[in-house]
Amino acid sequence: MSTAFGQSTVLGYPRIGANRELKKAVEAYWAGTVDADTLEATAAALRAEVWQILRNARLDAIPSNTFSYYDQVLDTAVAVGAVPDRFTRLGLSELDTYFAMARGVDTEPALELTKWFDTNYHYLVPEIVPGTTFSANPAKPLREYAEALDLGVTTRPVLVGPATFLLLAKGDDPFARLDDLVETYAEILAALADAGVAWVQLDEPGYVADRSPSEIDALRRAYTRLGGVSKRPQIFVATYFGELGDVLPALLDTPIEAIGLDLVAGPGNLNRLAAAGPLRGRTVVAGLVDGHNIWRTDLRTAVATGATVSGLADHVAVSTSCSLLHVPVDLSVETRLDPELHGRLAFARQKVDEVVLLGRALRDGTTQLPAPLPTAPARWRHDGVRERLAALRPIDRQRGDYPSRSARQQERLGLPELPTTTIGSFPQTVELRKARAAYRAGTLDEAGYVQRMRDEVAHVIRLQEQLGLDVLVHGEPERNDMVQYFGEQLDGFAATEHGWVQSYGSRCVRPPIIYGDVARKAPMTVDWSTYAQSLTSRPVKGMLTGPVTILAWSFVRVDQPLADTADQVALALRDECHDLEAAGITVIQVDEPALRETLPLRKIDQKAYLDWAVAAFRLATSGVAEDTQIHTHLCYSEFAEVITAIDALDADVTSIEASRSKMEVLDDLAAIGYRRGVGPGVWDIHSPRVPPHDEVVEALRRAVAAVPARRLWVNPDCGLKTRGYSEVEASLRHLVAAAAEVRER
Ligand code: GLN
Ligand code: ZN
Repeated sequence: MSTAFGQSTVLGYPRIGANRELKKAVEAYWAGTVDADTLEATAAALRAEVWQILRNARLDAIPSNTFSYYDQVLDTAVAVGAVPDRFTRLGLSELDTYFAMARGVDTEPALELTKWFDTNYHYLVPEIVPGTTFSANPAKPLREYAEALDLGVTTRPVLVGPATFLLLAKGDDPFARLDDLVETYAEILAALADAGVAWVQLDEPGYVADRSPSEIDALRRAYTRLGGVSKRPQIFVATYFGELGDVLPALLDTPIEAIGLDLVAGPGNLNRLAAAGPLRGRTVVAGLVDGHNIWRTDLRTAVATGATVSGLADHVAVSTSCSLLHVPVDLSVETRLDPELHGRLAFARQKVDEVVLLGRALRDGTTQLPAPLPTAPARWRHDGVRERLAALRPIDRQRGDYPSRSARQQERLGLPELPTTTIGSFPQTVELRKARAAYRAGTLDEAGYVQRMRDEVAHVIRLQEQLGLDVLVHGEPERNDMVQYFGEQLDGFAATEHGWVQSYGSRCVRPPIIYGDVARKAPMTVDWSTYAQSLTSRPVKGMLTGPVTILAWSFVRVDQPLADTADQVALALRDECHDLEAAGITVIQVDEPALRETLPLRKIDQKAYLDWAVAAFRLATSGVAEDTQIHTHLCYSEFAEVITAIDALDADVTSIEASRSKMEVLDDLAAIGYRRGVGPGVWDIHSPRVPPHDEVVEALRRAVAAVPARRLWVNPDCGLKTRGYSEVEASLRHLVAAAAEVRER
């Protein structure tokens, strides 16, 4: 017997709760102030609330198992029994074993955390070793299915699909285990069918990237096998974040009953679908509402696309392009946004309404759809910025020759060989956060707040002088977040009050919205930097966030190319560099930690991205004099793929995360002929561990072997804001001593 899929669905919904209830509950559990039962009760209430919201919105195909205490990839690892021995050995409860994998315990580091495709969500990387034995553990999806059913809601359990799960895993060729893993999925499907589940959703976003013929074959084999399971739910394979390309025909070769296509990030999916010929007896789940950004859908265009899809398949359901996990929960609680901006936005709750409306419009053809939005109000335009952009010439992205620049910088700065520095932030202490909260609440006035921050700057400068660092930082105490801080000071940006989005585990971020032309109203960082510089005779680095990172960690307008928005941000930063320089700052760091993370998933799109990303960075940084030293900083990823772009940034010094990868990045840089300064991180700041002196010396020795000492800098992997002062002092002491020791030789 087959049950129809439904008319409208979402691929997932935020699980953190409208007021971040889940964050608060799990953090309370970790702190030991609530017990497991209380945590579980909060979680159940949040799940129930989501199902009720979706049902009351008249969504007729509702997902379950989209809830997670930490991460859906980790949940899938548990569901297939891929819990590494090093965690089962701990002998903890099921829940604590789960959290041990997510967060580590004293004796066992956590699973690695990394970016989920091109979003700012991070998943836990499954560890698959030859000894990993898979076993079906469908308890969670079954429990959630039953829970929803108790509320009168029939749901579709969601799991990460087997192929994507292994593509995301690390270990000894995990993907080779696919056939094996598929047998475990077959058991899970059978168990779901026994419980009466009619549809299951298996997410395979791993296939919107470039995949080899053998990987595509393996996918075909996997779904042919799952389709052959004798008693099973109908299978919906969801893909998102881009185009399926050659994978579509392969999937259509298998007996799956429904396929999900992202028609927002992958408009080309439509042509592929047309080329595949009419899909008899199958459902196409058309991702027409953007799950990755916060703008309202142009419903008339979307319904036209939906109608085209209808002509190509027997059944069509309307959906979000991806899970709504990546957008804030509810726009209706935002009361302080400019009404004209508010009217253009849709958060998760509003996107559900769009999906329902589109589903209805597709079915009956008579549903009235709202008119498209009028063009943006003129007051969001900034003619001055537009004129400057139009007048840009290649030379505006060009600095003088590196050798002459470098000589003049050295003359001015007089730095020793192997200069030591840090990446920018010093610990964000409880006191600093309290002061900021008090300032926001109005109980601390501006003068009082500024004084507190200045005291911190003075403390950080003194500390660095005592430790003997060569190039100092002011410590960034005044920054809540490296993007939000700039967003709050630039025209064209808006901040939400409650627009939280899960970044990983209990960590949520509130990305700013870029809605109009970006322009700088006034200097943003100059007072802090000059104050810091006034306290010392050593150089203090000015500290800015680069254009690519500002875009990556914001919700960006979609009415103009990203390249133009990036250039607008770059012009604001260029002016800031200019003002810093004029105020006597001799070294300026422009951070681009997100450069790698927003790299498009497909090779064919990568060049265009890297071109505008590099161009924007150069626009931001090339307006300074030759003897002003520009630094950049990159982290959070493997850099091999973007190494030529890093070179093309043309920064005088690049500090880069390297300690976990044992300095491999240096070989990559050498291989492409990078000739400027480089500071490979010699201390992994993502761990509270203080690196022993000898370990830093060893890392530095390795670095000196790969890069001539005169180009080498000594610094940690990243900023220190998440660390405590005791570790920071001890670690920096080792770092400075190690630099001195290696310098001696
Ligand atoms: N300057 C920033 C800091 O030190 C850089 C942070 C980052 O790379 N994510 O905090
Ligand atoms: Zn960093």
